[in-house]
Amino acid sequence: MTAIENAIRKAMAAAGRLQNDLAIRDRIERANGALNGQIDVFGVMAHLNLPLIFRPLEGLLGAFMSEPVPGVLVTTKRPLSVQRFTAAHELGHFYLKHRPSLDDDSILRRSPFAASKNTNLQEVEADAFAASFLLPQWLALFHCKRHGWTKPDLPHPRIVYQLSLRAGTSYSATCWTLARYNLISRSDAKRLADIEPKRIKKGILGDVEPTAYYGDVWELSEADRGEVLHGGPNDLFVMRLEENAGAGYLWRVDELTPDAFAVREDVREVTGEENAGGPVVRRIVAQSVRQQQGTIRMTEARPWQPGSVINDYTLDVDLNGPEVAGWSRAERRFRLEAA
Ligand SMILES: [Zn+2]
Repeated sequence: MTAIENAIRKAMAAAGRLQNDLAIRDRIERANGALNGQIDVFGVMAHLNLPLIFRPLEGLLGAFMSEPVPGVLVTTKRPLSVQRFTAAHELGHFYLKHRPSLDDDSILRRSPFAASKNTNLQEVEADAFAASFLLPQWLALFHCKRHGWTKPDLPHPRIVYQLSLRAGTSYSATCWTLARYNLISRSDAKRLADIEPKRIKKGILGDVEPTAYYGDVWELSEADRGEVLHGGPNDLFVMRLEENAGAGYLWRVDELTPDAFAVREDVREVTGEENAGGPVVRRIVAQSVRQQQGTIRMTEARPWQPGSVINDYTLDVDLNGPEVAGWSRAERRFRLEAA
């Protein structure tokens, strides 16, 4: 075995050990009620008493310091998925008892499970730790099972992108991590990682032009019920719901909080066969218009009979986006609960 492969295995085993110690898998798989399908890396750092501070860093994504006491800095200038990867990388340096490290965005450009000969082994370990800590194999399989994605579905950019949103991992790290678990081939991972997320978002949105392409595009389904989705203030939600239009039942977006979402598209999809009177598929694209923690609620009812609700679709969303300067939201919660 090469030194690099050895380092990768050591780091992945360490990430698994830390998850076991904290019973993270149990908590996700046996969630009652609101399911959080992501590894709460900031919460783990608070739990380990490893200080984590967000700052608008120049030229750096993050840093690990060991003197006088261990501590981590992470930039405020990147999206949440990059902040999570950087924090997990620094957590790897801490957990594997590494020397202090200043990390720039080369940690995003390289594949976390392949290193060139001149890469520092400490960095190889921290990358492999981060990727497998945020997306362990069981979590990838958990989301696949929940959404009905099978192995032949995985080499598709839209599926990998949707998986990365549910797991809170970056799209390219998700590609490489799936390849590491042999869920996709290495050549598929390379092909997928070369596709820009912007192109994937365009493909999902079709005619809808978002206000900005830095928002994510969630394709929602029945499988998302009961899960809390963590996203950003400009994210778009594409809902496709079967509608009993023939019997007069129509979906409508309930405005729980006025002006929280803008409906960007609302159409009935045309199916091949003409089945007048049968169910049709209604496609609604809603865009968040601000930072918020809220609920998307839709009901299917006869417009002239408000009490005739035969179906509803409710989803909790946390659209706070990136962490801002100071402690993480998880740490502030943790301190409040401990006080
Ligand atoms: Zn590093």
